[in-house]
Amino acid sequence: MTHPAQPKASHFINGEYVEDTAGTPIPVIYAATGEQIATVHAATPAIVEQALSTAKAAQKAWARMTGTERGRILRRAADIMRERNHDLSVLETYDTGKPLQETLVADATSGADALEYFGGLAASLTGEHIPLGEDWVYTKREALGLCVGIGAWNYPTQIACWKGAPALACGNSMVFKPSETTPLCALKVAEILIEAGAPAGVFNVVQGMGEVGGALVTDPRVDKVSLTGSVPTGKKVYAAAAEGMKHVTMELGGKSPLIIFDDADIDNAVGGAINGNFYSSGQVCSNGTRVFVQKGIKEKFLARLAERTGNAILGDPMDEATSFGPMVTENQMNIVLGYIEKGKEEGARLICGGKRADMDGYFIEPTVFADVTDDMTIAREEIFGPVMSVLDFDTEEEVVARANDTEFGLSAGVFTKDFTRAHRVIGNLEAGSCFINSYNDAPVEAPFGGVKASGVGRENSKEAIKHFSQVKSVYVRMGDVEAAF
Ligand code: NAD
Repeated sequence: MTHPAQPKASHFINGEYVEDTAGTPIPVIYAATGEQIATVHAATPAIVEQALSTAKAAQKAWARMTGTERGRILRRAADIMRERNHDLSVLETYDTGKPLQETLVADATSGADALEYFGGLAASLTGEHIPLGEDWVYTKREALGLCVGIGAWNYPTQIACWKGAPALACGNSMVFKPSETTPLCALKVAEILIEAGAPAGVFNVVQGMGEVGGALVTDPRVDKVSLTGSVPTGKKVYAAAAEGMKHVTMELGGKSPLIIFDDADIDNAVGGAINGNFYSSGQVCSNGTRVFVQKGIKEKFLARLAERTGNAILGDPMDEATSFGPMVTENQMNIVLGYIEKGKEEGARLICGGKRADMDGYFIEPTVFADVTDDMTIAREEIFGPVMSVLDFDTEEEVVARANDTEFGLSAGVFTKDFTRAHRVIGNLEAGSCFINSYNDAPVEAPFGGVKASGVGRENSKEAIKHFSQVKSVYVRMGDVEAAF
């Protein structure tokens, strides 16, 4: 019997499901059991061509609609997503393995927020009037054209919406390629947009590995590429986009610092560290995986952290009581287990977890290492799993310098009751998305993105509009033209 997660076909182009079984089969594995629940096929060159030519053809008419009309469609799509939140959350859980307890509140709902927010902005994307005596200049905010979105595997619905919603609000069309690991959810986003009234071809989904992503990025018809992925992929995609002078948004990896001063509320700080390391089993780009704790409260913090981490409920992700799911794939599990071994070998002190959980699926116990030093592999490299490194520090000056000593700069957080210190420390940290007495909140109203190797551009908020549109300026002369001859 066909599993309910199996999509009707692999791709969604020009308003309908499209199949081409000549493409490499991509198995979809449910991470909680290891069972294959669906198969899709990577896009063949013919499918890539169909998607790009369709999106190119659909864009101009879409951009000519008023912002109010485009916004209404996006907001209707948001409503549909919310009505179907339960089913979409179940699919997200099948796609990623994340527990339903999370997907019910963080995926389709976050996607709907983006559709609603950018739907609301679409009608207000205006230009400026710049008076110059009797002449004037006016500016117009115009669409870029055809955009390509490429997703990572941790938030397949959210990533499709975070890219699709602002792109469409600005009058662009999009071809979106989900991660080959989680190909299911973006198809639902495409389906819902059509149901909400989006013209066929405005938002298309094609499946495939890096090769398909590469074919999309290098196509001369494409005006912009927005990637969510790792730094090495980001470097390749950025370089390929530069060849064609395309706009880019790069949402890449991190090794973010979370700094806890000795005056912090311990339970809130522990809560922040848990949210910043164990949500989605640690598969979150902005995670605060280097937790710097001031020496005076270190043992108290570790004791409370170990106690609360012991309350994590590992189990069937479809059971709403489960609060901690598996790694997305066996491969990712093995990568993370490799880092845990490195941590042990390099002398970090294991506080809790530290091994694969004794159950079906790709579960790793939530793991905390203490006495981690700056040079250890687990403190330097992005692990993308439930492995928290606790480092200790004495002074503010020292911790800021150590926190910044990384190629990454996605996020940073600080817990302290001293508000001047909180703002001073955040001001000195090299990171794009920061938190004071909190961690990992990502409301659509706030800009999201990194500095240094963690990325270029911003998603969400009004900032995203700037990255999916461009300004045309028009000089208007009222009098005669003066010329030298
Ligand atoms: P990845 O870099 O392996 O793949 C990301 C996407 O790029 C996939 O769809 C993949 O098929 C595609 N791709 C790979 N090579 C390509 C190429 N040469 N040209 C075009 N496309 C190509 O990342 P992943 O393993 O799927 O995701 C985990 C990474 O994503 C982590 O580093 C994580 O930090 C990052 N991430 C960042 C954010 C953010 O917003 N900053 C959010 C989620 C994940």
